[in-house]
Amino acid sequence: MLNWLRRLRAPAEIVIDEPHWARLRRRLPLLDGMDAGDLARLRQTSGRFLATKSVYGARGLELDSDMQLLIAAQACLPVLNLGLEAYEGWQDVIVYPDEFVPVLEWTDDAGVQHSRAEPRIGEAWARGPLVLSWADVKAGGRGDGFNVVIHECAHKLDMLDGDANGCPPLHAGMSRADWHAAWSAGFDMFRARTQRMAWLDPYAAESPEEFFAVMSEAFFELPWEVRGALPDVYQQLVAFYRWEPMARAS
Ligand SMILES: [Zn+2]
Repeated sequence: MLNWLRRLRAPAEIVIDEPHWARLRRRLPLLDGMDAGDLARLRQTSGRFLATKSVYGARGLELDSDMQLLIAAQACLPVLNLGLEAYEGWQDVIVYPDEFVPVLEWTDDAGVQHSRAEPRIGEAWARGPLVLSWADVKAGGRGDGFNVVIHECAHKLDMLDGDANGCPPLHAGMSRADWHAAWSAGFDMFRARTQRMAWLDPYAAESPEEFFAVMSEAFFELPWEVRGALPDVYQQLVAFYRWEPMARAS
């Protein structure tokens, strides 16, 4: 499967060759404007991601090496300055051809069984797999705010301290009070529509954890919009991802 890659110290590192990297750059305008040092680190981190995770298709979808790299590079962007350790404790990235419909079944207090089928384009399980729709992966990364890979990876980071709740474990020096003040004000503004954010997926209004995940997509795709509309949230994202996207956008 990985014959295009040269394993250095199997399985810890994989070198991504120039033709694959060049094709990725053409498919991912999101990376335009990143400086050479960051791009080199992203390339290396993507190789480590592919060496340590299993990225594979399901329901008849076969992933080639370009498809795997497209997913790996976008997954590595949020952790470029956090380290791949942030993704430790799980192994698989499962990719369906298109939307998938997990059936949720539960029994209520009265003993009545319920089930619900909800179409999804992505899913992140705590200590479990990342699940993605290839049709939606393909549609992302164009710098328009939509990015299902970053969205699900943001949930993964959020879940590092338990359930997804919109607040990942913060770094030393970050203030939990400042984080909550910025995010709850932003969430309220978005839900009350007092702040115009047509660029933000309305799904962000669903819950604080979805607001964090959707805002993370926007942070990497449309950072100037985030900074303009919600400067406090933008600053918290800069501190959390240790990444200043405006430096490349300007
Ligand atoms: Zn979500």
